[in-house]
Amino acid sequence: MTYSNPTDLREGEIAIDPILPDGDTVYFIGMIRTPFTTRDLCPRQGKLTGPECRIELHPDWAPALKGITSFEFLDVLYWLHRSRRDLVLQSPRGDGVTTGTFALRSPVRPNPIGLSRVRLIRQEGPALIVKGLDCLDKTPLIDIKPERCAYTPQAPHKDADHN
Ligand code: SAM
Repeated sequence: MTYSNPTDLREGEIAIDPILPDGDTVYFIGMIRTPFTTRDLCPRQGKLTGPECRIELHPDWAPALKGITSFEFLDVLYWLHRSRRDLVLQSPRGDGVTTGTFALRSPVRPNPIGLSRVRLIRQEGPALIVKGLDCLDKTPLIDIKPERCAYTPQAPHKDADHN
């Protein structure tokens, strides 16, 4: 089944009326609270044994958490808002040996999107308590998705799934 018109809603669906920016601009749906107040305190990559962090959704998007507690692991996307965005070559060790930005997981990139797989500890209303993040306190939240491997599509099968 497909939407015959992009504005059609199926039975039970709920849309909100967010104040969206024009065009292709990403907008933030919440904020991540972590104990990491400086970059030096952030791990390079989050650890599933790390401290509990709190993903706070904008209340408008709280209903979008329905069903999330059936997943143990989530992919969280966030905007590494304190990063510079202009380097094409980077020297992670500061020793003059460079690597291309797209061959690194450095926060320094044209669109500083961070991605972490986290363990969901619990839901507290419009917030999720998770382990496995590596970002500064108050980092803006872009999106949350169930871990791909554990996810079984609930939408009808598509022919393109075979290709
Ligand atoms: N796990 C994500 C990924 O692989 O896409 C991010 C990895 S990045 C190497 C994590 C580092 O980014 C942290 O150790 C910290 O130095 C830096 N960082 C964390 N939050 C940031 C923020 N909001 N703005 C800029 N840099 C940040």
